[in-house]
Amino acid sequence: MSATLETDEHKALRAAVAALGRRYGREYITRTVTEGRHPTELWAEAGKLGYLGVNLPEEYGGGGGGVAELSIVLEELGAAGCPLLMLVVSPAICGTVIARFGTEEQKRTWLPGLADGIRTMAFGITEPDAGSNSHRITTTARRDGADWLLTGRKVFISGVDIADAVLVVGRTEDARTGRLKPCLFIVPPDAEGFERHPIDMEINAAEKQFELVLDDVRLPADALVGDEDAGLLQLFAGLNPERIMTAAFAIGMGRYALARAVEYARERTVWKAPIGAHQAIAHPLAQAHIDLELARLMMQKAAHLYDAGDDIGAGEAANMAKYAAGEACVKAVDQAVHTLGGNGLTREFGLASLITAARVARIAPVSREMILNYVSHQSLGLPKSY
Ligand SMILES: Cc1cc2nc3c(=O)[nH]c(=O)nc-3n(C[C@H](O)[C@H](O)[C@H](O)COP(=O)(O)OP(=O)(O)OC[C@H]3O[C@@H](n4cnc5c(N)ncnc54)[C@H](O)[C@@H]3O)c2cc1C
Repeated sequence: MSATLETDEHKALRAAVAALGRRYGREYITRTVTEGRHPTELWAEAGKLGYLGVNLPEEYGGGGGGVAELSIVLEELGAAGCPLLMLVVSPAICGTVIARFGTEEQKRTWLPGLADGIRTMAFGITEPDAGSNSHRITTTARRDGADWLLTGRKVFISGVDIADAVLVVGRTEDARTGRLKPCLFIVPPDAEGFERHPIDMEINAAEKQFELVLDDVRLPADALVGDEDAGLLQLFAGLNPERIMTAAFAIGMGRYALARAVEYARERTVWKAPIGAHQAIAHPLAQAHIDLELARLMMQKAAHLYDAGDDIGAGEAANMAKYAAGEACVKAVDQAVHTLGGNGLTREFGLASLITAARVARIAPVSREMILNYVSHQSLGLPKSY
């Protein structure tokens, strides 16, 4: 895939990360999944090379870039078959929120570790009863002297087993109902009253999802990130990078699957010519390539707007990029599996398990339908049904 619209620095970053990804490759990730462990070696090396914190401020150990650079890192690792899902969460959401709204103390405590990968943070907003409707979240923080007591339940929270803390989205007691006025807390997983239960997912990935139960978890005053009255603006400072990074995750996975299919279609011959000569095989692969390129263009636009400080413009573009990339990924993976015929379903080629993994990009962090709702209402001004 050509690296258009990018600076020489971006192209160099892309090439360097791609080389790192190739050194580990898909076999490495498959091995870590089989062994039930995290890709810690790749995470550590990417951290040491400055890739994990490329978006974080230089004064706190980061690379001084933005989501544009971080999305290149995730896309290229994914295209090499080794996506690091926690990049979406740890440096992109948590790192960004702390860098933009955290106190000096929080920045000094967390950002250098998030940048070099020594520390990892998970992010918890989804709740069992609220689902896509974040305005219904009920995790509640109440004051107790100078402390906070946090109570609630979260589901599908990724990477809690390897996280040094979870950035939990709650609401304060005096804003318990109505339009969400979120507040964010840094919660250590060993805090009293904090339980985690793994959710048995049918996804072949090293990163696991957890249900969290918080029962009057006592937190010091400085666990609150930013202002308890800052509201949605502060939350979306983290959620827009999450959408852009999910697009990068999807584009990387789609490229990986497409490349395997193209290699196969060039060689596999069952009549006179390789199967890739049949347009019924070639055209859907060409379409998948076009869709991935288009999704990447929108992702680059979203990252550019976000890094330029246009949170509102970035919101629309990040939603559209996530939608386009999720759809492109699902189609590319599906067509890749089909191209390999029976081999598409073998463990040896390892493509079938991507069918489930690709669906994650359609569901999370905001589903396809909720993006279509957003565009219907916000971009087109159509009335709401809910
Ligand atoms: C692998 C994975 C990792 C995740 N990691 C995290 C994480 O780290 N942290 C975190 O906080 N969350 C995480 N999530 C949760 C994810 O963000 C949610 O699953 C997602 O937001 C959808 O919420 P839900 O599952 O409750 O679906 P629901 O809200 O119950 O939606 C179910 C279906 O109904 C549709 N629907 C709902 N409302 C409407 C409507 N108004 N109009 C049209 N259709 C509608 C949805 O599009 C969807 O298809 C993760 C999920 C997965 C699968």
